Amino acid sequence: MRKKIVAGNWKMNTSISKGEQLVVEIVEKSKGINGVLLIVAPPFTHLTKVADKLGNTRVALSAQNCAAETSGAYTGEVAASMIADAGAKYCILGHSERREYYGETDETLNKKLAQCFANNLIPIFCVGEKLAERESNHHFEVVKAQLSNTVFNLSEDDFGKVIIAYEPVWAIGTGKTATPDQAQEIHAFIRKTLAEKFGAKASDTPILYGGSCNPANAKSLFANEDVDGGLIGGASLKADDFITIAASF
Ligand code: PEP
Repeated sequence: MRKKIVAGNWKMNTSISKGEQLVVEIVEKSKGINGVLLIVAPPFTHLTKVADKLGNTRVALSAQNCAAETSGAYTGEVAASMIADAGAKYCILGHSERREYYGETDETLNKKLAQCFANNLIPIFCVGEKLAERESNHHFEVVKAQLSNTVFNLSEDDFGKVIIAYEPVWAIGTGKTATPDQAQEIHAFIRKTLAEKFGAKASDTPILYGGSCNPANAKSLFANEDVDGGLIGGASLKADDFITIAASF
């Protein structure tokens, strides 16, 4: 049985105290939900405080990014070891906003993947096509290249730990969502692509959907065979919405 996961990407939102309140509410309201791993990904500055609030609860902590290097003269960067030290167990990598605004390439992502595994952080690795690529029917090859240039380089052991998030760029923060059929089609394609490289292990890989997932559409998206949960942006900033999504399996 694959893990079901709902992860909240807070992006550059909330003050530290608002973030603390949000996780306290999430922990409290998630008590009736079983069989779903909940993850929150606040900004770096919040990690230790949020980790304190989470303690040994069922909600896990993630960063939104990590440095490609180990340590040293990299002003403004945050090392994977520091993120782990702060109490996080997961790290989002390759979010389209990082690829688009910070020039993150496959080469950088390979280094970041290595940093995560060297520090026992589980990557939530994002892939997804832009609108023009979807409209010209190139989405399959775009996503395949994103995987084969990065995740394909992992050892079998590391691959066995990774979480994939399919996030069509045209659906992120736009209110446009992939239809359940579109999501299932590409999630199945991603799993098949991973299986071509890693064999049966790919059937255990959680593949999350991200892109304007909300309480109204989560159920129909999560009902699909190959959709194992969601990476949630905007809707993860409201405890009630996040919890309703987590209860949508
Ligand atoms: C995201 O940025 O990972 C995301 C899915 O955002 P939203 O849910 O706001 O579209």
